[in-house]
Amino acid sequence: MTPYDHMRGLTRFPAYVYDLDGLREHVSSIRNALDGPELFYAAKANPDPAILRSLAPYVDGIEVASGGELAHVRETLPEARIAFGGPGKTDEELALALGLRVERVHVESPYELARLAKMARPADILLRANLRFHIEGAALQMSGPFGMDEDALAHCARILNDSPQLKLRGLHAHLASGLDAPAMLDLAAQIVAWAVPWLDAHGVEDPEINLGGGMAVDYGAPDSRFDWKTYANGLPACPATLRLEPGRALTAYHGWYVTEVLDVKTTHGETYAVLRGGTHHMRTPVTKGHDQPFTVLSAEEGDLRETTLVGQLCTPKDVFASNVPCPRLRPGDLIAFGMAGAYAWNISHHDFLMHPHPDFHYLTAGGA
Ligand SMILES: *Cc1c(COP(=O)(O)O)cnc(C)c1O
Repeated sequence: MTPYDHMRGLTRFPAYVYDLDGLREHVSSIRNALDGPELFYAAKANPDPAILRSLAPYVDGIEVASGGELAHVRETLPEARIAFGGPGKTDEELALALGLRVERVHVESPYELARLAKMARPADILLRANLRFHIEGAALQMSGPFGMDEDALAHCARILNDSPQLKLRGLHAHLASGLDAPAMLDLAAQIVAWAVPWLDAHGVEDPEINLGGGMAVDYGAPDSRFDWKTYANGLPACPATLRLEPGRALTAYHGWYVTEVLDVKTTHGETYAVLRGGTHHMRTPVTKGHDQPFTVLSAEEGDLRETTLVGQLCTPKDVFASNVPCPRLRPGDLIAFGMAGAYAWNISHHDFLMHPHPDFHYLTAGGA
């Protein structure tokens, strides 16, 4: 049974459907393409426990970005290697990291490092660098408050000299997202060329360089994939252990938000299909400013007409896709929005307007 067959058999909408077998296959192929770098999964893309458990055999660890994610991942995957990153870590979160056996703390500022040092407990850290590299074609450049410039890194090196319980393991540089493999390689080469001498000058043994995530996911081309083979083959040879921590490119493709048409209307010459649910369940198209790719699971064959797919929210922003070619829709038709496996449910404002939450379905060969 294909995921679409399964969706056609559902009786309650909206629903999220995750294809766990497809997800495992996808991540295992990425794992196989990467001989060399370690692969961590950035949990913020989708921390659903079933997703985390499906990924666990194929990744080396999980990157978390808050105390909440940390506690959740430790409970879901008690043995996982965990790296803890993200800006604005509180003392409570740092203490939790020490208590829950975090393997690496990605330090974001000298002040954060000083507070960690004050706890007088052993910790292994990467310093997160924010460097002005030339980045071509990024969807999102992580400038601003993330990581540290050269002066702040030097400040951290002085703090570390006085804190023997803290072990500097290397550097972290998540600098952009939405890059294809050639652009990612260009960025990786710049990071490595800068980081290796820095680590050498600071006497770091068996150094590590975390190159971050941000591998491109093209919502306009749902069948395209980041070219992991080209990326893996093109990574610079270097004396450090390289580590990657993608989120979106791992989990985006194997989730769907499936719902039904409630009403179809024409207003001022535009055709709207009003769907059960809305972008409070899947904010992705609003936050990214794209048309969410979709498949109509039930509709008459026939001419396509431009249709705008909206939800039940009382705001003109509640749009999944705008003026997209669509078969003639009628109430009761089913629509499956694809690429809803990452930054979808978990980034959305679920309770706006107090509609019921979607059901969740997890597809595996052993049953759903
Ligand atoms: C969000 C984030 C990632 C994952 O980014 P994707 O675009 O989902 O691959 C990795 N590392 C850090 C530090 C992040 O903030």
